[in-house]
Amino acid sequence: RRIILDERKLSSEYVPLKLPHRAEQIAETLRVMQDVIRGQKDVLRTIIYAGQAGTGKTAVARTIGREVKDKAAKGKIPPILVSYVNAQEYRTKFQVFRKIGSDCGLDIPRRGFSSQELAEYVFGFISRRENNALIILDEADILAKQKDGNELFYVFSRVREVLPEVQLGLGLIVIFRQLDESLAYLDKAVVSSLSGRVVRFNPYTSQQLQDILWARIRDEGAIREEAVSEEIIEMIADTVGYNPDTKSGIGDARMAIKVLYYSALRAEGEERETILPEDVRYVVNQGVLPSYIDEETVTRLPLHEKLLLLAITELLLLEREKAYVNMGEVVIQYEDVCNKFGEKPLRYTRIWEKVQFLKKMGLVDTRTGRGETRGRTTMITFPGLPANSVVGINRIPLDLLEKILRDSIEKELS
Ligand code: ADP
Repeated sequence: RRIILDERKLSSEYVPLKLPHRAEQIAETLRVMQDVIRGQKDVLRTIIYAGQAGTGKTAVARTIGREVKDKAAKGKIPPILVSYVNAQEYRTKFQVFRKIGSDCGLDIPRRGFSSQELAEYVFGFISRRENNALIILDEADILAKQKDGNELFYVFSRVREVLPEVQLGLGLIVIFRQLDESLAYLDKAVVSSLSGRVVRFNPYTSQQLQDILWARIRDEGAIREEAVSEEIIEMIADTVGYNPDTKSGIGDARMAIKVLYYSALRAEGEERETILPEDVRYVVNQGVLPSYIDEETVTRLPLHEKLLLLAITELLLLEREKAYVNMGEVVIQYEDVCNKFGEKPLRYTRIWEKVQFLKKMGLVDTRTGRGETRGRTTMITFPGLPANSVVGINRIPLDLLEKILRDSIEKELS
């Protein structure tokens, strides 16, 4: 019997049904946005979220977006467009407005418009349909530091001046990790027009993380309840939780959920039906996170990149004393892996291209070494992998990485 009942509910992108300890932030946002939500025209409301990673900023904003959308769809409030833009993905003014446009159902060509024309077109479209708009700009630190950052925020803050014919109520949720540092990149005029209300998201304490983890287990059913004990949850929460007295601890809910997930994976790997303290200790000691790469990055890779990464992982697991494996070994192992999954292996040049791709993504490191038969060969390892260590990609334990890859490939091929 599996311990993990619903993988999806443990992923970082999943927005849970309930958000314990964030009721205040939700209420405050709804208060600031009430005119926009009620359909009033010619208003701009801005709210700024500030807080470290994993403090629930995105989850709160998306929850509000989801509720507003639902209500509008049921006709309980006037029509409103909800758009979520993550600057990790959409980095320039043009890309941001293209995304908002696409959330309106507009198919905007990549070329032919200036970003300003595009912004005007999108706002014009929303206003002609007599909609209001609630726009969430996530990871806005990136936008503020962008060369057209001022212009980008300027369009929002001055919609009514720049586009006098546009009639719309606009709500803006702007999410920053490092508010002061990021605002310093923007002009004073832009900052003062932006800075509506600032809502702080503090790191979660151990007690808060326990509530969050239990909610994921009991309310969401992500993990079989009997597989976890109070002790396990306390252990994870204490490891990750923020302590206001000593000002130590990370307080990142994403990390707490990952530790739970990896612990469950390990317990399953050992064919147990319950998570034991040793699983948590193992995951924590391997240093799971913080990282910018996690299992979702891995599972989203194209098939042959995954097969290749699996081959590299298997080799490094087989020869734990080795820090690097050479390209020749990798090719043979990769062909083996392909055969096991019934996939036709790619040719050498394509494999080599894929290694370069994985390197560009920061998933592997390479260096040139001396080969045994030929003169020089490419040596491959995982970033930050010291010799004699079993620590894998950004500290996902290697054997868990192997399991994640295997499951993901099987799923894709089934
Ligand atoms: P941030 O945007 O501040 O980096 P997120 O909103 O992305 O953080 O949250 C990170 C992860 O933690 C997500 O998987 C989210 O579902 C979860 N999470 C954060 N806060 C809560 C909460 N109060 N209740 C339940 N899950 C939460």
